[in-house]
Amino acid sequence: MKNFTNKNSIIFIIYCFSISTLLIGCAKENNENLIVEELTIDAELQPYFDKFVEEGTLRGQTIDLTAKRIEGFLLEIEEEDVAGQCSYSSSSTRKVNIDINYWNRATDLEKEFVVFHELGHCYLERSHEDAQENRSCTSIMHSGTSGCRFRYNATTRSTYLDELF
Ligand SMILES: [Zn+2]
Repeated sequence: MKNFTNKNSIIFIIYCFSISTLLIGCAKENNENLIVEELTIDAELQPYFDKFVEEGTLRGQTIDLTAKRIEGFLLEIEEEDVAGQCSYSSSSTRKVNIDINYWNRATDLEKEFVVFHELGHCYLERSHEDAQENRSCTSIMHSGTSGCRFRYNATTRSTYLDELF
């Protein structure tokens, strides 16, 4: 009787092993199918992300936001006077966060500026650039704290974009 039980146990163990191998096999297959990662870009930000790709492409850059795992969110940024942020770590996606309160009162060019500035950090991996010429900021990547004048308008836009890319 004892021997019979042992034999059954062995069969049971073999059975479990086969099942778990099968399950692991299935899981692997699923992982391979899940290579395409879900990246979120807020619908309101999307047109400005598209423009960033367009303007970069016009200047000879290959802009692939998906390859750098860029996401975009409209949310409330707690810190005062912060219109946008870029956060990234090697273990996660790169996140462009735009303050919804700033966004809701911004003009089209102001929206473009904040998105392009944050993508300058998150995608182009640029840091702040506070150089100035005749007291005007020379870069869209200015920190906003150096006191240089920044006028982003129809006349200055293309010069700033040339510098950005
Ligand atoms: Zn910045």
